Amino acid sequence: MNTPQLGIGMTSPRTRTRMVDRLREKGIADARVLAAMAELPRHLFVENALAHRAYDDDALPIGHGQTISQPFTVARMTELLLNGKSPRKILEIGTGCGYQTAVLTKLFPEVYSIERIAALLDRARANLRAVKQVRARLQHGDGHLGLPEAAPFDAIIMTAAASHVPPALLEQLLPGGRMILPLGTQEQFLWMIDKQEDGSIQKTRLDPVRFVPLLNGQQ
Ligand code: SAH
Repeated sequence: MNTPQLGIGMTSPRTRTRMVDRLREKGIADARVLAAMAELPRHLFVENALAHRAYDDDALPIGHGQTISQPFTVARMTELLLNGKSPRKILEIGTGCGYQTAVLTKLFPEVYSIERIAALLDRARANLRAVKQVRARLQHGDGHLGLPEAAPFDAIIMTAAASHVPPALLEQLLPGGRMILPLGTQEQFLWMIDKQEDGSIQKTRLDPVRFVPLLNGQQ
């Protein structure tokens, strides 16, 4: 077996197409999400040493004790956020390496993303530049507070798990808007929070998931 060729093959567009085929088989149906993930080179968001695993359906370490989310989870959360419509403005909490941010940038006209670890935010900025997705506005800070200066948002995604929905985020969601986030400490589930036009809140529990915890403050 020719190892160098194998190395190239494992980050090739064909490998990415296979990842997208698997997402479709697992139930992701929104063609916009599948197209965005087919175009984005996920291997550029992970360390070189892990690039050959970038198209497996796994979370991978990105340093600072954090992870890049599993492709299926990224696709699932994005599809739920789009909700078959074309929402305009989204806030992401937990930029990490910027992969989810890049997917969102392809699909939402206005993207804001907050990360509490400055070094990761710098990495995300470089990664987003490398894949030519520079429209997202990245902010160093504690996502518990949301981004009042840019609120309200049509959609909010949190990519770290909390014990409860941060109240500021709920406030910054527009009526008719949707938030997708993992909740729980030992056992985590994805939750869909819909703010109705009358301001009332509908909460729906979805898939079991595993995310790093939402932490306080910034570093
Ligand atoms: N969206 C990323 C997932 C990153 S992991 C992806 O595409 O793969 C979750 C991220 O949330 C970590 O980078 C972590 O530092 C960040 N995080 C945790 N608590 C936070 C907080 N209170 N505010 C902002 N970011 C936070």
